[in-house]
Amino acid sequence: MTLQAPNKQKATPGEVTAVLRRILSENGDEYRWTYVVAISCLVIVSGTTAFTAWIMGPMIDQIFVERRGDMIVWICAGFMAASLLRGFAGYGQAVALAKIGNNLVARYQKRSFDHLMKLGVNFFNDTRSGRLAAQVNENVGGVRDLLSLTLTSISRDAVSLVGLVGVMIYQDPVLSLSSLLIGPPLIWAVVYITRRLRKINRESVLINARLNGSVQEATQGIAIVKAFTLEDELARRIGVMADTAEQRNNKIARVSERLSPISEILGGLAITAVIAYSGYRALILGQPPGAVFSFITALILAYDPARRLARTQVGMERALVNARMIYELLDIEPKQGDAPDAVEARITAGEVRFEHVTFGYSADMPVLRDLSFTAAAGKVTAIVGASGAGKSTLVALLQRFYDVDGGSIEIDGQPISKVTKQSLRGSIAYVSQSPYLFEGSIRDNIRYGRLSATDAEIEDAARQAAADEFIRAQPQGYDTPVGENGATLSGGQRQRVSIARAIVRKAPILLLDEATSALDNEAEARVQEALTHVMAGRTTIVIAHRLSTVVNADHIIVLEDGRLVEEGTHASLMADPHSVYSRFHRIQGVKGLGLVDDSPPIQTSDLETQTIARSTI
Ligand code: ADP
Repeated sequence: MTLQAPNKQKATPGEVTAVLRRILSENGDEYRWTYVVAISCLVIVSGTTAFTAWIMGPMIDQIFVERRGDMIVWICAGFMAASLLRGFAGYGQAVALAKIGNNLVARYQKRSFDHLMKLGVNFFNDTRSGRLAAQVNENVGGVRDLLSLTLTSISRDAVSLVGLVGVMIYQDPVLSLSSLLIGPPLIWAVVYITRRLRKINRESVLINARLNGSVQEATQGIAIVKAFTLEDELARRIGVMADTAEQRNNKIARVSERLSPISEILGGLAITAVIAYSGYRALILGQPPGAVFSFITALILAYDPARRLARTQVGMERALVNARMIYELLDIEPKQGDAPDAVEARITAGEVRFEHVTFGYSADMPVLRDLSFTAAAGKVTAIVGASGAGKSTLVALLQRFYDVDGGSIEIDGQPISKVTKQSLRGSIAYVSQSPYLFEGSIRDNIRYGRLSATDAEIEDAARQAAADEFIRAQPQGYDTPVGENGATLSGGQRQRVSIARAIVRKAPILLLDEATSALDNEAEARVQEALTHVMAGRTTIVIAHRLSTVVNADHIIVLEDGRLVEEGTHASLMADPHSVYSRFHRIQGVKGLGLVDDSPPIQTSDLETQTIARSTI
C-alpha cells in the first residue's frame, strides 16, 4: 500500500522547496497577514539582536575608555529599547506562528478526514484503520513543523546571522573571515547527519503508527482479548513494538545529537582563536578594546542562530518525511468517481438488474462471473450460496463500492455507473450483518439514516423496528449515548436500531445482510418483525441465512463460485429434486448446510491474527 511503501526516493533541497511551495500555495493566502506579522516580528528580533552586539563597541570605547558620562544614558536607553522591542516582537512572532501552526494542523486534519471519507472501500480493505489514524495524526504535525521551522529559521535565525556577521565584518573583517572558516565543516556535518536520518525517520513514523494503532485495536477488541486470554500475549507484542520504537528513537537521538559535539567544538575553536588573537592585539599592539568586544559579542550571539540553523536542517528532515506522507495520502485518487456526465438517479419502481456482471478484486481472480438476474421492484430477492460464493461482493457492487469489470448493473434501466454515487446510495438502505453504531445518542444513530428526519419520524421508525420500547427504557431514552460499537445495547437491540436507521432512510431499495449471530428466540422474532416492516413495499435483496426468509422470498437466486446456478421460488426450486437448492434442503434445511455461510464475519487485528490462528488449531 502506498502509505506503507518504503521510501526509496531521496529528499533533495529541491524537494523541501517543492513540498513547502505546495503547503504555501494551498494555504498561504489565508494567512497572509499573520505571516506579515510573524515575519516582521522575527525581523525585529534579529535586528535588535544585532544592535545589542553592535552597541558593545560604543559602550566599551565611550564609557570605559573615553570615560564619557553623557553616553551612559544614551547607551542604556538604546539597550533598554532594544530589549523591550525584542521582548514584544518575540511574543508577537511566537503567537502568530502558533496560530498558523494550529490552524494548519486543524486544516490538514479536516482535509485528510474528508479525503479518507472519499476514498473507496478498497483502500480501507488494505489499510489498518488504527494505524492510519495514528499515522495521519503524526503526519499532520509534520506539515506544521515544516512551515514553522522554515519560517523561524529563515526569518529569525538566518536574518540574525546575517545581521551579526555584518556587525563582525564591520568591526573586524580579518577576524571575521577566519572565524567563518568553521562554516564548511559545519555544513558538511549537517549534510551527513540529515542523510543518515532520512530512512530512520520514516521507519520511526511507521513503527509509532503501528504501535498506537495496535493499542487502539486491542482495546476495541477487548472482548476477544479476554475471551481468548490474550492479555499477556498482546502485552508481549505491544512490548516488542514499544521496544523497537524506543530503539528507533534512540537511534534518531544518537545520530541527530552528533551535531551537538561537532558544533560545540567548531564554535569553541572559533571563539578561542578570536580571543587569543584579539588578546594578543590588545595587549601587544595596544588596540582599543571596543571593536574586539563588539566583535566577540556578535560572534557569541551568532553562535546560537548558526547552531539552530544547522539543527533546523536536521529537524526539517523529520517534518519533511511526515509532510510527504500526508501528501501521499491526499494524492491517492478516489476510485469509483462520478462520470463527468453523471446524472441524479431517478428511481421510480426500483427494479434492479445485473447484466452479465463480471468482477474480481484482482485481475486474475474473478469472483463474480457473467452474473445476470433481476430483482423485481417491490419484491424480496434472496441470495443463497456457500461462504465465498460472492454474495457480499454482489451487494457491494450494487452500492458501487467497486466498479464492475464487465457487464452492467441497472436500476430502473439506468446503469449505476452513469448516475451520481450520492443519488445512488441515497436510494439504498443497507442493513449489515454486524450493525455499526457511531459515537452519539441512539437518536443520532437512527438519524444517520436520513439527516433531515424529524424526531417524530425517528420515533415512528423505531416503533416499526420494534425498538421504541427498549429505547424508552434506557436511562435517557432516545438521547442515551451508545458506547463504542453500541456496547451498552444487546446484539438484537443494535440490529433493531440499525433497522430503524434503514426505515428512516425511506429508500426504495433495501440491501439486507441477515445477521447470523445467535439471537435468542424472542430477540430473533422481534428482529424478524422489524424486518417485515422495513421490507414492505421496497425492492429487497437479502443475503439470506434464515430458512423463513428464503422460503418466503419472492425470488431466490443460488450462487456457486460466483456464478448463478439456479433461480426461482422456493416451490419451483424444490420441484426439481436434482436442484442444488432442493438437494441441500433435503439434507438439513438451508441454515447450517453449508449452502449459506453461517459464520459471523471475522475481524482480526494486527496483533490477533497469528495468535488466534494458533489457539484455534
Ligand atoms: P460471500 O459473501 O458469499 O461469503 P464474498 O463476496 O465475501 O462471499 O467473497 C467472494 C470471494 O471474494 C471470496 O473468495 C473472498 O475471498 C473474495 N474477497 C472478498 N472480499 C475481498 C476483498 N476485499 N479483497 C479480495 N478478495 C476478496
